[in-house]
Formats: sequence, C-alpha cells, structure tokens
Amino acid sequence: MARYTGPVCRLCRRERMKLFLKGAKCDTMKCPIEQRPYPPGIHGRGRVRESEYLLQLREKQKARRVYGLLEKQFRTLYEEANRQKGITGENLLRMLELRLDNVVFRSNFAASRNQARQFVRHGHVSVNGRRVTIPSYQVRKGDVVEMRGKSKSMIVLRHNLDTIDRAVPQWLDAEPADAKATVRDEPLREQIDVPVREQLIVELYSK
Ligand code: SF4
Repeated sequence: MARYTGPVCRLCRRERMKLFLKGAKCDTMKCPIEQRPYPPGIHGRGRVRESEYLLQLREKQKARRVYGLLEKQFRTLYEEANRQKGITGENLLRMLELRLDNVVFRSNFAASRNQARQFVRHGHVSVNGRRVTIPSYQVRKGDVVEMRGKSKSMIVLRHNLDTIDRAVPQWLDAEPADAKATVRDEPLREQIDVPVREQLIVELYSK
C-alpha cells in the first residue's frame, strides 16, 4: 500500500503543532516546530481566511497524518465507522487505534508509527502467535501482539524498550521484558489522547 514518503516535519508545521511523527527528535530542540511554528512554504506566515470548511479539513488532515494514512484509506475507514453502531467519530478513532501498527507503537516497541509500520511490514510482529504483515490489521479484544522470535533481540527494539517512557494506554497490557502486549479492551474515547476533534471530520465527510 502506498504511503507518504516526503519530509514528515512539514506535516507538523502544516498543522502548526507537534504530531510526534519522528520519535526521539520530537522531544528535542531540533524539532522544527520549536524554531518555525508556522506552515512551510513562501506563504507560510501569510494571513489565512478562517472558514468552517478549513477547520474541518485541518482536523481530518491532522488525524490522517498522525496515523499515517492516505486519503483513500482514511475515507474507507470512515465509511466503515459510519456503518457501525454508535458515534461515528468515536468509531473512527477506535478503529485507528486498533490498527496493528498503532498497537505496536502504543506498546512502546517502536519510536514512531512509521517505525511500527516497518516492523509489521518486515514480518517482525505476530498476533496470537501468527505472523501478520498488514499494518492496517484490526486487532480485537484479547489479542496478543508480540515481537517474533529473533526480532526480540533486534538492537533497535531493545533500544526502544530501554529508552521510550511514553505511558502505555490502559486498554493495553504491555510486557516490555517479553516484547508482548495484550489488548485488554477496546479503547474508550477518553483513553485516546490524539489532539483531534473527530466531530469536525464527520461533518466534513457528511457534506
Ligand atoms: Fe513533528 Fe517530530 Fe518533526 Fe517535531 S520533530 S516537527 S514533532 S515530526
């Protein structure tokens, strides 16, 4: 599946906020948001006319960029969320959180969602003992996500487990010593800490 391969820091600058797409660099003064907290490009510091549509578009782009999805994938996920019972925006965020690459990232096995995606694509991750190489795979309550055999001794994984101190969300039961995490429950909205107003995304797509 295609993915964005351009400079990711531009995406944060476009949204005027840290989206934490790069791992360790995001917490240092090297983060471009610290130096240039305005959109990239020659008109980056120009005046922008605010509109309802612009607000909705920016929220959608922000969510898409945080989770590293292209427009088509994001739209498909939205349509699936809309078909489900319950609040569409919350369904959408829950499905984004339950993506396998996100679970690997949330369990602190990877420094960023991009790196988590690479771990999955390269066959380093199993779900309930079976290798899964699809980053968009939806995990379910009770699933056990684990780094596979030799992958557990990868230097990059050991480094991540030793250095990353992000809080693991309550809906995940992580066992860093075994590079393993169990999905305790599906995440509730208040357990998802992404700075996105999902209602604006629903309004945008409902037009
Ligand atoms: Fe975003 Fe991280 Fe780049 Fe800062 S360093 S702009 S938070 S990706």
